[in-house]
Amino acid sequence: MIRLTKVTKEYPRTGRALDDATLHVAKGEFVFLTGPSGSGKSTLIKLIYMEERPTSGEVRVSGVNSATLKPGDIAQLRRRLGVVFQDFRLLDDRSAHANVAFALEVTGAPPGAIPVKVNRLLTQVGLASKAQAFPRELSGGEQQRVAIARALVNDPFVLIADEPTGNLDDRATRGVFQLLREINASGTAVVMATHNLELMRRSDYRTIEMLHGRIVADTADPAVALQAAALRAEDEEKARRVREASMDSPAWAGPRSRTPQ
Ligand code: ADP
Repeated sequence: MIRLTKVTKEYPRTGRALDDATLHVAKGEFVFLTGPSGSGKSTLIKLIYMEERPTSGEVRVSGVNSATLKPGDIAQLRRRLGVVFQDFRLLDDRSAHANVAFALEVTGAPPGAIPVKVNRLLTQVGLASKAQAFPRELSGGEQQRVAIARALVNDPFVLIADEPTGNLDDRATRGVFQLLREINASGTAVVMATHNLELMRRSDYRTIEMLHGRIVADTADPAVALQAAALRAEDEEKARRVREASMDSPAWAGPRSRTPQ
C-alpha cells in the first residue's frame, strides 16, 4: 500500500533529511513514527503524500509511483489519503461544518449529498453539537477533530497524521488518539508521527524510530532494532565525550586556578 525503497531526500541547503529509507506499510496498519526533532519524520510523511519527491529511490503509494508520475497522479492520490497536522490548518473564517463541506466541494461531490455527509463525519468525530462553531470558538482538541473529519471526506485508505497531538493537553491528546484508533479499527490505515511516549507505551502498534534521517528501529523488523542500539550507543558516547571535554575546558578550570594559595 505504501512502499518506500531506498529513499534518500536531500535539500539543497540543509543536506540529507532522509537517508536510504526502506519501508512498507500494509493495508489497515497503525504505525507510529517517532524520533527526535529533525530526524526526518515530516520529510518521510511529505514523501508519502508526495508533497516532496525523493532525490533517489522510489515511493509507491496505492499504485502511484514517484519515479513515473503522470499528470493528475498526485491529485488523484491526495483524494485517496487524508492528512492532519499539528497546527490543524482550518479555515478560520468558516464554521466547523463549512470547513468539512469545503473539502467535499473541491472534490466535486454532488452538492445535495454534502450536508448529510458532513453531519455524519462531525458525528463520527464527536462534534455534531459544535457544527456551527468557528475554529476560534473551539478548543485545540475540537479543532483537531474537525481537521480529522475533513481528512476523512473521501474515505481515505490511509490517514497520515504529523504530530496531531503536539499542541494538545493530555486529555485532548487521549481523546484524539482514541478517535484515531477507532478510525483504524474501521479499516483505515494510520501513520502517526509523534513524540508522545505515553501513547506508544499504552498501545502495541508498530513503532518506527528515526534518527539523523535513518530508520533505526522498527518493531516489525528486529534486524533494524540492533542497528538502532548501535547508533544510540554511538550518540551516548559522543555526548559523554562532549561532557568530559567541557569539564576539562579552561572555563571550568578557571575558578580553581583563582583559589587563594
Ligand atoms: P522531523 O519531522 O523529525 O522534526 P524534518 O523531516 O522536519 O524532521 O527535518 C529533517 C531535516 O530536514 C532537518 O535537518 C531539517 O532542517 C531539514 N528540512 C526539512 N524540511 C526542509 C526544507 N523544506 N528545506 C530544507 N531543509 C529541510
